[in-house]
Amino acid sequence: MSSWFTARREKARMLVPGRGPVERELEIRTHSLTGETARILRPPHRVLRTPDLREAYAHTRDGCPFCPESVEVRTPSFDPSEFTEPRLSVGEARVFPNLLAYAGLCALTVLSRAHFVPLDALSAPLLTDAFRAALQFFREGRKARPDLDVRLLHWNYMPPAGSSMIQPHHQLMATAVAPTRLARLAEGSRRRATDTGCNPWEALVLEERENEERWVGSTGPWSWMTDPVPRGRYFELLGVHDRASDILDLTEEDLSGLVDGLVRAFSLVSDHGLWSFNLALMGLPHAGDHFRCQVRLVPRAFLPPTDCADIHFDVLENEAMVLRPPEQVAGEARKLFARGSSAP
Ligand SMILES: [Zn+2]
Repeated sequence: MSSWFTARREKARMLVPGRGPVERELEIRTHSLTGETARILRPPHRVLRTPDLREAYAHTRDGCPFCPESVEVRTPSFDPSEFTEPRLSVGEARVFPNLLAYAGLCALTVLSRAHFVPLDALSAPLLTDAFRAALQFFREGRKARPDLDVRLLHWNYMPPAGSSMIQPHHQLMATAVAPTRLARLAEGSRRRATDTGCNPWEALVLEERENEERWVGSTGPWSWMTDPVPRGRYFELLGVHDRASDILDLTEEDLSGLVDGLVRAFSLVSDHGLWSFNLALMGLPHAGDHFRCQVRLVPRAFLPPTDCADIHFDVLENEAMVLRPPEQVAGEARKLFARGSSAP
């Protein structure tokens, strides 16, 4: 038993031509902190085939506003009353305001000069500079807009994850109102901290490391596991920081551990024949007693034979139908996290 979720099993029976009676068991899990549910199915696992992405998206290079010749000219620049520079830059990373402003402080980081960066070329130096640039944005943003103190970084990598742009880019936001998932996590965490007298994320890491079922490994101060009640069709990898609760608390050393874990996570995505993911790096201000900064990664896919979306039930029922048990994926991820450091 886990203190992180409850589960109920159901069995479905059918007659399959050529095979006779078949029984399928599923598990409906409820997360104890958020009340979120997921249906864990166990169909036969099949690894998808990755198409030739460079060729498939070659047409997106023409007129791309994120490419080096356009990024300084065609993207918006910061209001001089809020930021010292029109655009922030660290290495290849460029940060500028997001035209689709969905928070009081809202920006994009273009990670690379290269238009197309495949999953296996998302290197530690490229990622580290992008996270450094994000921290610079959040630091300057805090001075300009101290009221917007909930900070998140999102990454929708490639079209299955909802990205219309091929060039890798992060979305940075600072807002006074946490988005729903973070708000539910915050609320559940606060409640459990009050009930137990200790930080629930420290307890989670201890429990998951001990029981091993979903434990993946650690990179520096980050503890990695698969979420028992995942979002998406495949898995949700969760990395929890051991001290920081706000993104702004992260140090250079913390970024190195984060990037090391992410490079391994990208291998896990590739091993599934997948080439797209949604990622969120979430933090909360003044929450050291009940929260820990955390990164969540969910692979996304176009499903054959029609390249259809991989979510459907999720949209109206707010519940994932998951094709693989989190415990099985954790076993595969552990091998990738056991290898020597991939940090630069
Ligand atoms: Zn481009």
